[in-house]
Amino acid sequence: MCWLRRDLRLGDLPALGEAIGDGNREVLVCFVLDPRLESSSGERRLAFLYDSLRELDAKLDGKLLVVRGRPDEEIPRLVDAVGAGSVHVSEDFSPFGRRRDDAVVTALEESGATWQPVGSPYLVSPGRVTKSDGTPYKVFTPFFRAWRDHGWRAPAKTEAPSNILNPSDIHPSGRIRIPAAPTTLDLPAGEDAALERWRTFVDDDLSGYESDRDRPDLDASSRMSAYLKFGNIHPRTMAADLGRSQSAQAYLRELAFRDFYADVLYNWPKSLWHNWNDQFDDIALDTGKSAEKHFDAWREGRTGFPLVDAGMRQLSETGFMHNRVRMIAASFLVKDLHLPWWWGAKWFLDQLTDGDMASNQHGWQWAAGTGTDAAPYFRVFNPETQAKKFDPDGDYIRRWIPEFDTDDYPEPIVDHKAEREEALRRFGEL
Ligand code: FAD
Repeated sequence: MCWLRRDLRLGDLPALGEAIGDGNREVLVCFVLDPRLESSSGERRLAFLYDSLRELDAKLDGKLLVVRGRPDEEIPRLVDAVGAGSVHVSEDFSPFGRRRDDAVVTALEESGATWQPVGSPYLVSPGRVTKSDGTPYKVFTPFFRAWRDHGWRAPAKTEAPSNILNPSDIHPSGRIRIPAAPTTLDLPAGEDAALERWRTFVDDDLSGYESDRDRPDLDASSRMSAYLKFGNIHPRTMAADLGRSQSAQAYLRELAFRDFYADVLYNWPKSLWHNWNDQFDDIALDTGKSAEKHFDAWREGRTGFPLVDAGMRQLSETGFMHNRVRMIAASFLVKDLHLPWWWGAKWFLDQLTDGDMASNQHGWQWAAGTGTDAAPYFRVFNPETQAKKFDPDGDYIRRWIPEFDTDDYPEPIVDHKAEREEALRRFGEL
């Protein structure tokens, strides 16, 4: 049987290919809705998940088996129900995924079914790229070089899967309908939409990616992040289309960042909610009523710093925020408002459709200066100069803040220059 997790597609999915093998046996394809993940995912991520499952079920002629429960109970139960000899999965390297899978492997011990991890959602799986002494990289650029040298396999051929077992024939208990999406999405979910978006980006926008990727007003990035998060497409499929242009290499570097942060989280699982660099554990952070008021203003896009506010409103209205603006909004929360990065990271995870534990937590730690490879603590983004540089005509700001040119737009809640000095003073105390 093949248990899908964050690989919601049929093309270039080696775990499914190997489960089917030479086609002499029927394969059950299943997904387990885990209430622990459902309750901790924001509405947009759930909508994206449910829509992806619905598409997959349609592609499999209604043969995707969806159950709800703890995988360490459901997977052995399904193995028994169909007499499966193996459970094929694409490997999940997140701290939660590893704990969950360890529990499933233990629970499968008596069933006789073998655990078959095949591939992962990354170009190079976490743990594979190490320094010559076997230790993990802590800095991106040397990781990137070693990662490129390591290389990856070509995309697997996509064939219409045959011999998928129809769950209606075996009537396993607990089959549920895929839930309705709890909200609407600004991008359609699923494998077909991912491939279409990717082809359009390669044809129309890839050539300008290197020069325009930092411009939130131009919408010049690929918007592939949610598709990658849910595995509607494998990055291998994308890398194979890239070619050798400067822009293609710039894009590949971003895909390497995704692998790098997954590698960092794999090697330091504690960095999920704690400073990767514990030297910063004692930094003074604001608390109390005024901290909460500042946090509310930040979340609601009412700080009086237009680029920060535009980004925060884009986030709550659409579930997406441009990368450059994510960096500026995160820096503002930590360095201008002196709030814990994990407050911001949690809010991002609630809102983002592409919310991903490795990229989000380490994107935040980069901005906070507490991560690997972090922005040096003394570099504090100035939201106004950043806006002049990356949104020169103010188009992005006006798109998200309709009242920008009126008296309704709030005054700045803090003085950037003073707070920058205050941040440096607090760092200096350490
Ligand atoms: P493109 O510029 O088209 O990039 C292509 C792909 O490369 C992206 O889809 C993504 O998979 C990967 N990528 C690009 N930049 C990064 C990066 N800095 N780190 C890791 N991968 C990257 N990305 C997420 O996928 N999920 C998150 O939860 C997330 N949270 C972030 C939080 C903060 C504070 C910061 C600074 C960055 C975060 N990022 C996250 C990274 C980045 O902002 C998004 O991947 C990017 O904005 C997605 O838009 P895109 O697909 O158009 O990007």
